[in-house]
Order: sequence, then structure tokens, then C-alpha cells
Amino acid sequence: MSGIEGKVVAITGASSGIGEATARYLAGHGAAVVLGARRDDKLKVLAAELEREGGKAEAMAIDVTKRADLAAFVKRAQDRFGRVDVLVSNAGLMPLSLLDELKVDEWDRMIDVNIRGVLHGIAAALPLFRAVGSGHFINVASVSGISVAPTTAVYSGTKFAVRAISEGLRQEAGSKIRVTMISPGAVRTELAETISNPDLKKRVEAFQAMAIAPIAVAQAIAFAIDQPSDVDVNEIVVRPTAQSV
Ligand code: NDP
Repeated sequence: MSGIEGKVVAITGASSGIGEATARYLAGHGAAVVLGARRDDKLKVLAAELEREGGKAEAMAIDVTKRADLAAFVKRAQDRFGRVDVLVSNAGLMPLSLLDELKVDEWDRMIDVNIRGVLHGIAAALPLFRAVGSGHFINVASVSGISVAPTTAVYSGTKFAVRAISEGLRQEAGSKIRVTMISPGAVRTELAETISNPDLKKRVEAFQAMAIAPIAVAQAIAFAIDQPSDVDVNEIVVRPTAQSV
């Protein structure tokens, strides 16, 4: 039996991209998956497909900017599958822009989803993990959380924050709770859709031409889950071979 089989894994941002690929991969390897995102219709179709293929999946509409939604999400996992072993905080947005454009609403949105979303996951699952004496947080950051470039200031700021929060959580977590941060490079997903400047969107889409498939990140997440409970994989960077920064 692998370290994935039988685990209950709750995944935010499971309606597309990395979250969807992770749900498919983990369900295919025997985990029960709980799928959260706003697009309920997509989640339901995915959950039904995974169950048809013999997996276990539950779908729930959540908005990670709302603390109560994350609390309900973790509770749903417990109600349906009896416990939660892993929370993958993956939901995120990347509306890149130059600071001069003053897209303050987009800055706020990124802070709300990319940072507060992760914190709401911690607030929902940490007391539970403490109570049962085990648990695993996996937070999806980015290579933009390691270095900054023009147009990524705010997005990078949110991902630097995810890395800082994850490292702080790891240090405070103690000997029974694992904390992993995954920092992907360019991955072929819907992420660039949130860029509102058409010229920049075109440039990012051209850059994304060398992007790798989301399953590459799903497998990195699965690797961290698969380890024995005394092995904590803290950080994985996974990017296209052709991506220099
Ligand atoms: P997608 O746009 O395909 O997926 C983003 C997911 O986040 C969707 O499922 C979306 O679902 C969900 N989401 C967005 N806002 C909310 C919200 N308020 N509440 C709940 N769910 C929400 O992009 P990716 O798969 O690429 O992104 C996943 C993560 O990977 C993000 O954190 C991103 O920053 C990170 N990443 C991606 C990279 C890439 O190149 N693709 C590179 C580095 C990091 P819905 O709209 O249904 O709510």
C-alpha cells in the first residue's frame, strides 16, 4: 500500500489546472479527494468522473476568500470520509500588471485569494490536525515567490508571503504535522486568463509556450504525500527545463 492510498486529501482550486490534475492523480492512486473551487458545475462533473472510474470524490463550492467556506470545506471532508489527512491550498490568481497601471482591485484580489485563502485553510485545518495528532499542509506557491520581475510585484508578493507563512507554519507545527510548499514554474493552465492587460496577456501566453503539463506538479504533490509520516518534504521547485527564470 502506498502512502497515498486511503488518505483523505482536500484540494482548493480543483476545478482546473494544477488542482484538477492533482485530484485526478491522487484519486487514481487510491486517495479520497474533496474538491473545492467556485465553479461548482466543473467540480461536480470531475467528482462524478472520478467516482465512475472507481475513485472517491466529493465536490463543494467554496470561495477561499471566505474563512467560513474553508471551515465548511474541511468539515465536509470529515463528514463524508471521516477525517482529513492533507489540505492542498492551491487556489490562486495571477492578474499581472505594472504597478503604474494602479490595478488596485486586482492587487486586493490576489492578496485575498493567494494569501488569505491559504491562511483560511490553515485556520480550518490546524486545530483538527492538532486534535488528531497528524496532518499535512501543502501550499502551492510559485517560482515568482523566489524571484521578482517587472509586472509580478504584487503576485510575487503574495507568493513570497505563501512561502514565509509555510515556513513559519513548519517551524511551529511540531513533530506530527507536515508542511510542504510547491513552487511551480510555467504550467499549462488557465492562470493567464486573469491578466486584464491584453498586450501583457499575449506576452505571457507566448512565454507559456514552453509550459509543462499540470501533471508534473501533481506528481510533485503526490511525492510529498507518499513519504512516510516521519519524512517531511518541505519544498519542491518544478519548472520547465527550458525556463531559466
Ligand atoms: P488555474 O487558473 O487553472 O486554476 C486556479 C484555480 O483556483 C481554479 O480552480 C479556480 O477555480 C481557483 N480559484 C480562483 N479563485 C478562487 C476563489 N476565490 N475560491 C476558490 N477557488 C478559487 O491555474 P493554475 O492551476 O495554474 O493555478 C493553481 C495554483 O498554481 C495557483 O496558486 C497559481 O498561482 C499556482 N502557480 C501556477 C503556475 C502556472 O504557470 N500555471 C506557476 C506557478 C504557480 P474557480 O475559478 O472555479 O473558483
